[in-house]
Amino acid sequence: MAIRFEFNGVRYNNVVDLSKALPPMTSVLIGWYDGAEILCANAAGLCYDTKIEYDFDGENYFLHGRGVKILKHCIESKHNTVLEHGTATFLKKVPIFVARQDLRARIASFDERSLRFCRADDGSLEYYIPDYLSEKRIKQLYARNEMDKAHFLEQMRNDWISWHEKAKEMYSHYADSELLEMLDRERVRETVRALLPLGISTVYLDTRNLWSWIHHAEKRLCLRAQKEIREIRQQEINQLKEVFPSIFKYVDKPCFTRGGCQEAIPCGKIKLDSNKQAITSSIEVNENS
Ligand SMILES: Cc1cc2nc3c(=O)[nH]c(=O)nc-3n(C[C@H](O)[C@H](O)[C@H](O)COP(=O)(O)OP(=O)(O)OC[C@H]3O[C@@H](n4cnc5c(N)ncnc54)[C@H](O)[C@@H]3O)c2cc1C
Repeated sequence: MAIRFEFNGVRYNNVVDLSKALPPMTSVLIGWYDGAEILCANAAGLCYDTKIEYDFDGENYFLHGRGVKILKHCIESKHNTVLEHGTATFLKKVPIFVARQDLRARIASFDERSLRFCRADDGSLEYYIPDYLSEKRIKQLYARNEMDKAHFLEQMRNDWISWHEKAKEMYSHYADSELLEMLDRERVRETVRALLPLGISTVYLDTRNLWSWIHHAEKRLCLRAQKEIREIRQQEINQLKEVFPSIFKYVDKPCFTRGGCQEAIPCGKIKLDSNKQAITSSIEVNENS
């Protein structure tokens, strides 16, 4: 098992320090089953009496030849159990509304930072601001003389920030108050988190086998899924492609893989053929149109 507690080139001694360094809406690969591609290919090899070749340079494993082909065959033919012999673990900091969607995919193991036992008065209660409420975006609208839009979004941004700040202040006031000595401290702390909005970030570890990562990705890379959950999934797939290139190079939106579009109402942004396979090149897809 390889572990790496690193973000933006900085190494941390533990996941607590790493989690504090992560900005909201980030998922970082912190652990993976090194050599999992060799193991998965050998699992398939065992099924068909196929001997798998690989190299090891003292640090990394390299799968080649029939090992790469057999993995491709298993992925395409949904011989899924082969991919269950490898795992990967991510540390995430995402708003609660993103975590709720993420945790719905059940073939996984989670551990989440508890607001009941961990304190918030160290500044670790962060919240998310969507892209369309960024200062830069609003300034651009003013510069283009789109006054109504700019005023509306500016007001919304101010409300968004003051709502979250007020919730943080109330939470910290009641959960961290010294007066809690007079009361049942734990009872207050376990309930007062109900004051926090869904935009507040939560931190958790998410471990899945490699089939489950593919399944989860294909569902949430689809343009019908919410932008934020897609972004998290794309971050994860990019990192998985680096450590498991033979397995994850095939992962994409379902309409770009053999699965084809599964949606009753397609997104309309990607041209499909009669088999619901994408015709548009993935580079041409304008997700924001
Ligand atoms: C675009 C989009 C919109 C969505 N909108 C909503 C929504 O509005 N409301 C909502 O509640 N959810 C919503 N979901 C969540 C969705 O319904 C699924 O719960 C989620 O995507 C997990 O899918 P899954 O069950 O295939 O994955 P997993 O839970 O990871 O399970 C993987 C596979 O294991 C098998 N499996 C797991 N558990 C069982 C079981 N108990 N019995 C039988 N087989 C099992 C199934 O084959 C399943 O496909 C949405 C998902 C997407 C992608």
